[in-house]
Amino acid sequence: MTTTRTRVAIVGGGPAGLLLSHLLHIADIDSVVLDTRTHHQIATTHRAGILEQDSVRLLVDSGASDRVLADGHEHTGIDLRFDGASHRIDFRRLVDASCWLYPQTDVFLDLHASRTRDKGDLRYGIADTEIHDVDDLDDTPHVTFTDSEGLTHRVVADIVVGADGSRSTCRTSIRGASQFFREYPFAWFGVLVAAPPSAPELIYARHQDGFALVSQRTADVQRMYFQCDASEDPATWSDDRIWEQMQTRLSGHDGFELLQGPVLEKAVLPFRSFVQTPLRSGRLLLVGDAGHTVPPTGAKGLNLALADVRVLAEVLERALGKRDLDALSEYSDRALERVWKAQHFSYWMTTMLHRLPETSAFDERRQLSELASIAGSENGAAYLAEGYTGWSNGGRP
Ligand SMILES: Cc1cc2nc3c(=O)[nH]c(=O)nc-3n(C[C@H](O)[C@H](O)[C@H](O)COP(=O)(O)OP(=O)(O)OC[C@H]3O[C@@H](n4cnc5c(N)ncnc54)[C@H](O)[C@@H]3O)c2cc1C
Repeated sequence: MTTTRTRVAIVGGGPAGLLLSHLLHIADIDSVVLDTRTHHQIATTHRAGILEQDSVRLLVDSGASDRVLADGHEHTGIDLRFDGASHRIDFRRLVDASCWLYPQTDVFLDLHASRTRDKGDLRYGIADTEIHDVDDLDDTPHVTFTDSEGLTHRVVADIVVGADGSRSTCRTSIRGASQFFREYPFAWFGVLVAAPPSAPELIYARHQDGFALVSQRTADVQRMYFQCDASEDPATWSDDRIWEQMQTRLSGHDGFELLQGPVLEKAVLPFRSFVQTPLRSGRLLLVGDAGHTVPPTGAKGLNLALADVRVLAEVLERALGKRDLDALSEYSDRALERVWKAQHFSYWMTTMLHRLPETSAFDERRQLSELASIAGSENGAAYLAEGYTGWSNGGRP
């Protein structure tokens, strides 16, 4: 067994794990990043696409990405579409803020390139990850794994960080944890299509048949979603059937035209709200989806992961750089303030825009009235704009 000594062993090399490794490197703290998937698998899995303005600032100011400003697209609003017409929520005018369309795959590529440039220790395509001796501050933790050639390794560290996503195994090692869930009785049917953009910014559509979202990727490829049953099999959906659903849900009387093209990829994405507290025990800390997941309607998942890392990097810098282990106890509460705010925002956006089972005529009219109240009120629209672009005060009241 080969042994490597480092300060922080990071389980999970997605955006959260890589950004943490990058920020620790800037603080002169070395780390090892371990991931069961290969670089190719992560770089070709389409997920989130919207970055809050503080996420962009963090990537740019830390030197992880300047490409986001060159290749990303600044969005200064979204359209809420209901009753056959679009209503613009103008972020710039309402809260003087914006967000950026920049796919998660590009965030991953930038962070990976930056860690590679700085000679970071990244191990992809590994298996059998196990964490050991993380319970007490007196322990010396280590992580064992098997590499792609079948050789076993041990990484000995001061701290282990679980950045291993929504199916985290690290989270089971947090002592005294409570878990909070909300399951939703529907899913998203996500498609990548070869078509020109139908709109410059995202359209969130509520229709009596269910929710739909029109998003963008490039001049020739677009990302779209529509609400479906969680048991749908994407293989049984033809392009025609997919477009029929999208066209129906985007139909209206304001001249909007949804541009079609061949479907390149399709997948059903079940989703739920989940939080585990606390996010730390002993020498183990969780970041990103390992500690919490949100339904994607509010575009918060990736942003929350990056916001956790911002807090954790600062805490670890004090704990390891300045030998102040008490700093570790701050992390969970500080990160969870924002997490719960985002949980509420994502839940609110989801229930405002989706069709719930057994919806009555009363529920339909109440939902339309809620949307009209938001779109027709400066204060209501500003509330949405502030949450969507990210709370600039870190989520504190
Ligand atoms: C299918 C899908 C679609 C999504 N779409 C959207 C969207 O449209 N909008 C939005 O805002 N958010 C979306 N999200 C959420 C967003 O992608 C996540 O919030 C974001 O990826 C969180 O980053 P992370 O680094 O915490 O976790 P991840 O990106 O999941 O990274 C975790 C990494 O840990 C690795 N790992 C797991 N187990 C182990 C182990 N035992 N040992 C070593 N490594 C391990 C995984 O291979 C993975 O690379 C989506 C998520 C999914 C799953």
